[in-house]
Amino acid sequence: RANATLAVFDGDGRTADGHRIPLLANVGGSADALAAAGAGAQGVGLLRTEFCFLGRDTEPTVAEQIAAYRGVLDAFPGKKVVVRTLDAGADKPLPFVTDATEPNPALGVRGYRIVGTSRGVLERQLSAIAAAAADSTADVWVMAPMISTAEEAGQFAALAAAAGLKTPGVMVEVPSAALTAEAILSHVEFVSLGTNDLTQYAMAADRQLGPLSGLNTPWQPAVLQLVRLTVAGAQAEGRGKSVGKPVGVCGEAAADPALAVVLVGLGVASLSMTARALAAVAAVLSSVTLAEARALAQLALAAPSADDARAAVRARLPLLD
Ligand code: PEP
Ligand code: MG
Repeated sequence: RANATLAVFDGDGRTADGHRIPLLANVGGSADALAAAGAGAQGVGLLRTEFCFLGRDTEPTVAEQIAAYRGVLDAFPGKKVVVRTLDAGADKPLPFVTDATEPNPALGVRGYRIVGTSRGVLERQLSAIAAAAADSTADVWVMAPMISTAEEAGQFAALAAAAGLKTPGVMVEVPSAALTAEAILSHVEFVSLGTNDLTQYAMAADRQLGPLSGLNTPWQPAVLQLVRLTVAGAQAEGRGKSVGKPVGVCGEAAADPALAVVLVGLGVASLSMTARALAAVAAVLSSVTLAEARALAQLALAAPSADDARAAVRARLPLLD
């Protein structure tokens, strides 16, 4: 077997028995997007649009936004690009939408919640995304961060449709969204698990605090259960339909090769990660069949702790020895 860290990624994520798992990149702008395309990413699973405008005191104009988004779309002609609307607040404040006096920013007006305080900012962003998409061959999907309820998902889908965008989806990064995934997916076309925040909110452990890193890991059995429930919700929503709606992952969990296998075993359809991790994840995925990935997912779910889950899975993946 090849050493995972030396493997060359050929742009195709597959299990050993040939099940396709698109491997996409998380990017923060056009420079990242070009690097990701060079690294073999099959598209963009998360464009963090707030990264395009960090440090700005004023809202970027629609023209500025169109230029920024086009720079990313141009790196992926004909490919899927998931553009996330602004996730300002908490660890990523943007002065033109974030209230710096909030007592508890991680639980404050962040992500999609700006619809209640700065609705025009969101509407102008959606129109900029639609304009950039109209001028591109990329398959543009649009996604809202920090969705907590099915009602919010429905409202976002309506706003996206009003802007002329075709494929609305939402992030599942709040435990309430994982628990109501079936209802959420009745409103939108896909969901993407944000395991960084999902872990933070499930474990009530600030993702920025080093001393809490033992709690703050997506290997926690409670977090894996939330992933399982999200997939189950999507399957329930798709029952009786010819094609179900996809559940992807765009949190850092997807960049951990052993955890990527577990996520695939839990039924996740695509993985989006930092471009640096693509080759290692592709190599490990290609070393297991889907049935083996499912068995490893059951092993992780049944483990008594995050450390036990990680150790049990890694011990059965020869590439990671
Ligand atoms: C996440 O929360 O997992 C995620 C992908 O979003 P961000 O890291 O930008 O909050
Ligand atoms: Mg997040």
